[in-house]
Amino acid sequence: MKEFILRNFVRKNILDLKPYSCARDEFKGSEGIFLDANENPFGVLNRYPDPRQTELKQQLALLTGRNVSEIFVGNGSDEVIDLAIRIFCNPGKDRIMVFPPTYGMYKICAEINEIETVEIPLNRDMQLNMPEINTFLNDEHVKIIFICSPNNPTGNLIRHEDIETILNSFACPVFIDEAYIDFAGSESFVNMIDKYPNLIVSQTFSKSRALASARVGIAYSQPEIIACYNKIKPPYNVSSLNQEAAIEALNSSREFTERKNTILAEKKKMRTELSKMPCVKHIYKSDANFFLVEFDNANKTYSKLIDQKIITRNRSSVIDNCIRITVGTPEENETLLNALKIMKNEK
Ligand SMILES: *Cc1c(COP(=O)(O)O)cnc(C)c1O
Repeated sequence: MKEFILRNFVRKNILDLKPYSCARDEFKGSEGIFLDANENPFGVLNRYPDPRQTELKQQLALLTGRNVSEIFVGNGSDEVIDLAIRIFCNPGKDRIMVFPPTYGMYKICAEINEIETVEIPLNRDMQLNMPEINTFLNDEHVKIIFICSPNNPTGNLIRHEDIETILNSFACPVFIDEAYIDFAGSESFVNMIDKYPNLIVSQTFSKSRALASARVGIAYSQPEIIACYNKIKPPYNVSSLNQEAAIEALNSSREFTERKNTILAEKKKMRTELSKMPCVKHIYKSDANFFLVEFDNANKTYSKLIDQKIITRNRSSVIDNCIRITVGTPEENETLLNALKIMKNEK
């Protein structure tokens, strides 16, 4: 394993930064007369939220067996991704590495921050092209490697051994996006943050926890990296409504499991039905709550579904003739399958 020296990767201006200290940082108690933050004394949502999301983090710590100091909570994973780029990558100078077809936000966030993106396409099995990746072993401008597993839009997990090889052989931070891990039935890399000081694992409340509207994302990493996150985040980045929604979601574990099981059962049924349809050429292996499906004519299928008010995600521009289909409720899935069956007969 290469030695990971955090100081060598954090941007100098971030290392030197003296962070803003907000009113709720300076006085942490919850009782008293609060005349310190220029809040309105009247109303229900009149007070600033806990800037450190203490209660939510304590619950996440219980759930994962991690320490609160190893957890960052962001305004969705999109903030978790953006802050990682701003901690480690110098604009106009550094690069990130991604493995397309994958989630688009890594590259977009990089572009916004004037960071170049090295793209190494996944191989035919939708796995990492390790020989090609290894040619960048000595590129000191690669500051973060983004691995999405299960990957969006293909749906598959990235091979665990390959991810560990990267964690061992590259000295830079490695960011594993586990937005769909709860559907995968495989072990999270959160359990490996002790072993790999360069590892950042992101998860989200948007998918398996059914809280996309609330915007709550999480990063798990060693305390020094989490400290960098805390240093540069906007002070009140997660609203009190969203913190409460996330805490409530964690307390509804029965509902969480039931919904997840329903989605997984529906997914199995959908695969069986889709694979019988002549218009379906291939269904990619999925470890998530969606499928990437190759049709004989994706553009036509997509617009015909739109005509029936069924909205899927046309990914033809990324992978030929492919549509990404999310698993919905039993009724929604039934409607989709019927629509596809009728289309076949019309041809
Ligand atoms: C949906 C998704 C997210 C979630 O982003 P949020 O900002 O937390 O809603 C993150 N990564 C991937 C790959 C996704 O598909």
